[in-house]
Amino acid sequence: MDVDAEVDVAIVGAGPAGTSTALHLARFCPALAGSTILIERSAHPRSKLCGGGLVNDVDVLLHNLGLDVGDVPHADAAWANLHYQGRGLRMRLGDIAFHVVRRADLDAWLASRVRDCGIRIRENTLVTNIERTAEGVILETSTGRIRARAVVGADGSKGMVRRMIPGEERRPVARLVEVVTPPRPPKGLTVDDALFEFRNISEGIQGYSWSFPMRTDGELMRNWGIYDSRLVGTSETGSLVNYLKEELARHGLDIADYRVEGHPIRLFMPGAELSTERIILAGDSAGADPLLGEGISLAIGYGELAARALVDGFSSGDLAFAGYTRSVHRSPMGRSLRRRHLAARMIYGLRSSFPQRLIWWRIKPLLRTFIRRGVFSWAVPTVHSKSVSFPPSGPLQPVQGV
Ligand SMILES: Cc1cc2nc3c(=O)[nH]c(=O)nc-3n(C[C@H](O)[C@H](O)[C@H](O)COP(=O)(O)OP(=O)(O)OC[C@H]3O[C@@H](n4cnc5c(N)ncnc54)[C@H](O)[C@@H]3O)c2cc1C
Repeated sequence: MDVDAEVDVAIVGAGPAGTSTALHLARFCPALAGSTILIERSAHPRSKLCGGGLVNDVDVLLHNLGLDVGDVPHADAAWANLHYQGRGLRMRLGDIAFHVVRRADLDAWLASRVRDCGIRIRENTLVTNIERTAEGVILETSTGRIRARAVVGADGSKGMVRRMIPGEERRPVARLVEVVTPPRPPKGLTVDDALFEFRNISEGIQGYSWSFPMRTDGELMRNWGIYDSRLVGTSETGSLVNYLKEELARHGLDIADYRVEGHPIRLFMPGAELSTERIILAGDSAGADPLLGEGISLAIGYGELAARALVDGFSSGDLAFAGYTRSVHRSPMGRSLRRRHLAARMIYGLRSSFPQRLIWWRIKPLLRTFIRRGVFSWAVPTVHSKSVSFPPSGPLQPVQGV
């Protein structure tokens, strides 16, 4: 079959999962990174619907790559307030609760760092079809046909690469909607407080509504939204927008004054396969956090694991990636994801208000410790290790036409 370009690795999607995979490849194995291409349907900076909350694990993961997230314009949420019906737990992870970025800024910054490493990003290129052949994987794109020896599906929750993995369509899909408003904080909180309000669990929402400070073009604003994991069966709820409307009204805002946008998130499931021959998934495509819908730190974490799997696969000549799912599950990130899955099933399965009050009002020290140590803080700081010399078994495929 005629192709326009031939590469060792094609990464579909240049969000945090795709750029992290590329950046980790550049660190672990520059030669393999040199025959890697990222394919992105839009062009950076591109907008992406997201609360933009970056937890402490993002700092650690990027620091391991020699990057400082402080270089991206951001606001800091000084405290996170986890409430049920207006009261609950106040906590932070270190000096602050988390950073808040605009995704257009974060993703464009990561893409620039990828280009700094000499890795090509082919933007404005939509992957429309994927086919596995004896020689590799053929990607049909809007700008030509690419053959890759291995493909990373980092194309997000609505992506197409994951459809190559048998059984993956059974994973739950959470729904989210959000609005951006002027910076007025929720009642009783300050401008740099973040709020997570879990009151709607009792009405069948398997999640929470949020309010984060954020910065847009240097100006302080607020991001409000609602997350419904739909993990425990299907939520018997109506429009998410109505719940968000009620939450905004409680804080003196009228949703009609703002633009409401929604997007799904594909969730992590402990039993789900994340790879098949020549193909591995990373980021939302593999599954985000079922408890909080958090996915940026995980996308970056998946990128590291995907890069390790690629280096191992190309070094051994075995591109079946049979051990990738297990390596994700056994990693500190995978263990955190399994705990989050369990916690989400327990908390969102208990609809009556008595257990919810117990969780958010009474067992605060336990909850705080679980969130600090069981949910977050899984990323391990590393001293920069030497890169792998590659390949031990033969010359690289030439990279053409990219
Ligand atoms: C409303 C909302 C609020 C959120 N808030 C937070 C939060 O505060 N903190 C947090 O950590 N997480 C949050 N998340 C989750 C977070 O946005 C995701 O987990 C994160 O974006 C996953 O990164 P990714 O790289 O896997 O996917 P994406 O960021 O979705 O990137 C995928 C990329 O692939 C490209 N692509 C897709 N299909 C193709 C194709 N066929 N061909 C070429 N390119 C393609 C897309 O254009 C995109 O650039 C939120 C999500 C939503 C919807």
